[in-house]
Amino acid sequence: MSEALTPDPALKIAQLGNPILRQVAQPIEQIQDDRLQALIDQLLSLLSDSNGVGIAAPQVAASCRLLIVASRPNARYPNAPLMSPTVMINPQIVGQSSTVVKDWEGCLSVPGIRGLIPRYQEIEVEYLDRSGQLTRQQLSGFVARIFQHEFDHLNGLVFLDRLESLQEIITDQEYLSRIVGIQPA
Ligand SMILES: [Zn+2]
Repeated sequence: MSEALTPDPALKIAQLGNPILRQVAQPIEQIQDDRLQALIDQLLSLLSDSNGVGIAAPQVAASCRLLIVASRPNARYPNAPLMSPTVMINPQIVGQSSTVVKDWEGCLSVPGIRGLIPRYQEIEVEYLDRSGQLTRQQLSGFVARIFQHEFDHLNGLVFLDRLESLQEIITDQEYLSRIVGIQPA
């Protein structure tokens, strides 16, 4: 457990092939643990530096059940909705819509490619916030997608595991020019 709270000292993003991305992360027991609170702060600043819209602790080699959803428009996701970063500890999906939608996803741990991935359109989630408050929330659309992507990381899955066809993988560059409509500078 204490090991699980200690990220890679350089806070590098674990890349596909690193076995930590395939482990089931440990539940967090001590919300007030200084190392947990420091890890949360590190992940928040990493997200704002990396143009990510979400991150899970295993991506920095801390195998504990912590994720952050932080949708905002940026260079990697120009059409993302704006929200304040939400820290979720020991998150669970407690309800889901029957509607599943496919859309493009990428991952800081799988650089350079995007995949067309099916996710529930709406979910209801429960988690502890960083002060230990139990919170229940409805998420929909892109924000629900981010949650499901990050939640998979806590269970040793990456988005590639959910591809329906290998033909639904494209490069970042093709994604930006064909799907988003941004021409390379
Ligand atoms: Zn990811």
